[in-house]
Amino acid sequence: MASTYMRAAGYHLHVLRLVGGLYSRCQFNTRRHMTKFKAAGLASSGKAVDVGKDEGTGLGLKKAPVIIVGAGPVGLTLAILLTKLGVRTILLEKKLKLTDHPQAHFLNNRTMEIFRRINGLGHEIEDQQPPMEHWRRFVYCTTLAGPILGLVDHLQPEDMAMHRSPTGIAHFSQHHLVRLLLKHAFDLGIVVHEVSRMPPMCSNSQSSNIGEIYMGHELKSLHANSSGVTTRVLSFETKVETVMHGSYLVAADGAGSIVRKIMGVEFEGEADMQKLINVHFRSKALGRHLARTNPGMLYFVFNARAIVVIVAHDLRSGEFVAQLPYYPPQQNFEDFSPEVNSRSMKIYIH
Ligand SMILES: Cc1cc2nc3c(=O)[nH]c(=O)nc-3n(C[C@H](O)[C@H](O)[C@H](O)COP(=O)(O)OP(=O)(O)OC[C@H]3O[C@@H](n4cnc5c(N)ncnc54)[C@H](O)[C@@H]3O)c2cc1C
Repeated sequence: MASTYMRAAGYHLHVLRLVGGLYSRCQFNTRRHMTKFKAAGLASSGKAVDVGKDEGTGLGLKKAPVIIVGAGPVGLTLAILLTKLGVRTILLEKKLKLTDHPQAHFLNNRTMEIFRRINGLGHEIEDQQPPMEHWRRFVYCTTLAGPILGLVDHLQPEDMAMHRSPTGIAHFSQHHLVRLLLKHAFDLGIVVHEVSRMPPMCSNSQSSNIGEIYMGHELKSLHANSSGVTTRVLSFETKVETVMHGSYLVAADGAGSIVRKIMGVEFEGEADMQKLINVHFRSKALGRHLARTNPGMLYFVFNARAIVVIVAHDLRSGEFVAQLPYYPPQQNFEDFSPEVNSRSMKIYIH
């Protein structure tokens, strides 16, 4: 299955994996802050509303049972699942908008089983993903238009016969997935504070007590004690810091997690297995050509001038990512300008 590729390319196999965990009940050592929280009358639960201003610093103060850091697939999914269970969350995302880069694209069975439970999300993915004929094969070739060295079909009938699940696997790029997750969060009544849109995007129900997502808000620090976790959050737009308090904080802030670093959790395994430049490009003509002649999910291109993996995110829209390995100190990231990359594409395609 696609795990062969995931392992070979050194990727995380499971797109949906909590990077961190529930962090609480650690030493909170800033006495000054503790006093402020008592003065503000915080309990361990309450509505996600501004409960006052600190006179000394002008900081707003917000609280919720669970604060989630990071609106990637993990953080968004968790916010939705907790909301469905009646647990209100504040989700912080430092970027102003969700990523446009396709990133991951293969959804494994367990992930789809979880999505199946989210109000039709699993079906939406199944409906919107490219046809399986487009992504069941890995192709080994000298160029995309050149001779085929080998083909591996990872979805043989016997593979399908082994299914013991009400859902299948899926092929759906991460930049589409996170937008779909955001839509589901919104449909559940979660208020999305987008910096570019004021007032906040609200669902029909206006039930802002369910939860909130703050785009353009970066977690800068956290302190945890027996009553929960207190964070300082910087708004990209206003440059104002807000203090937020949660009974729990979940680190869904990706591979470079600041939460992990603040908590002193060591990174296990090899951090830098390979350096890759990802070139995201669109060509409807190439997509159409490959769909007709040689459809596949991954094209491993080997020739005398290049070794590259081209991920076909969607042959229908002609959306691809070429993954080019590079080798410091002989090569540097800066060597790969858009012009150089565009010239290189010809070597991979023709
Ligand atoms: C270029 C690229 C290509 C990839 N291709 C593949 C692939 O083909 N297959 C595969 O399986 N995986 C791939 N991955 C890996 C996959 O994208 C990740 O495993 C996945 O994104 C992890 O999801 P996540 O929700 O845990 O974290 P992320 O998606 O990394 O989301 C974390 C979020 O937290 C936010 N954040 C970070 N710090 C803070 C902070 N202090 N305050 C507030 N917000 C913060 C970030 O802005 C980000 O939006 C790729 C990754 C990259 C970068």
